[in-house]
Amino acid sequence: MHGHRARKRFGQNFLADPHYVRRIVEAVDPRPGERIVEIGPGLAALTDALVERAGDVTAIEIDRDLAARLRERFSPDVLALHEADALDFDYAALGDDLRVVGNLPYNISSPLLFRLADHAARLRDVHVMLQKEVVARMVARPGTADYGRLSVMLQVVFRIDRLFLVPAGAFRPVPKVESAVARLVPLARDAPAIADRPLFARVVAAAFAQRRKTLRNALASLCAPETMIAAGIDPGSRGEALAVADFVRLANTVKATADAAPAR
Ligand code: SAM
Repeated sequence: MHGHRARKRFGQNFLADPHYVRRIVEAVDPRPGERIVEIGPGLAALTDALVERAGDVTAIEIDRDLAARLRERFSPDVLALHEADALDFDYAALGDDLRVVGNLPYNISSPLLFRLADHAARLRDVHVMLQKEVVARMVARPGTADYGRLSVMLQVVFRIDRLFLVPAGAFRPVPKVESAVARLVPLARDAPAIADRPLFARVVAAAFAQRRKTLRNALASLCAPETMIAAGIDPGSRGEALAVADFVRLANTVKATADAAPAR
């Protein structure tokens, strides 16, 4: 592995099949002048192709040894490298209209996706490779086993498409799981208006915390059954039955009810 020992704790499985490098970069279709941001460039399998097409790339890499190699290989005007944790990176510092690309470390995929959702307003799009099962949860529809917190929290912000599968044999070391590439495009003005984002996140988390509970029980600490009925939601139903728009309506009704209650 080019003398680098893959670190499990950083989710290091490097893409080693040029066919899939090409397919990912073709899906992104980077152009000169665009702000391409790569998360976890690693040994630069994607970075090389991205730099070739876009001219310059910004990258965030947590592994000190890999960051040193990348600095040796690319001049700073071609690769603006941030040796940092993508989970607490200040994306606002990179400007707007960002095109994020990453073969993501799978052990942090959900928190990283939530973080990108928080910054959706400054993203043009996101292309990520993830464990196949995570992509299935991202695109899942209500009433299916895969539908849950990740589906709702991402679909309320992004339109998400699964593009193609990538077999385990395309990576070194070979992981135990298969992967898939997804494209996320912010809904921007089409996104439903959420009155209170932290409250929305709490409602969604509680609704799926114990999937078999009815909403009446799962949301008992957040709202009364009357509030659910006022939002047009059956308190006897389960979180998995609610569409993304239902969650938005419910959380907005919870917020409006709390705001209307006399202060104590
Ligand atoms: N992009 C390369 C490729 O396709 O071969 C590497 C992919 S590897 C699955 C994940 C990369 O993300 C590694 O380089 C790893 O060091 C880096 N990484 C892991 N956790 C990270 C974090 N929290 N912030 C930034 N980079 C991280």
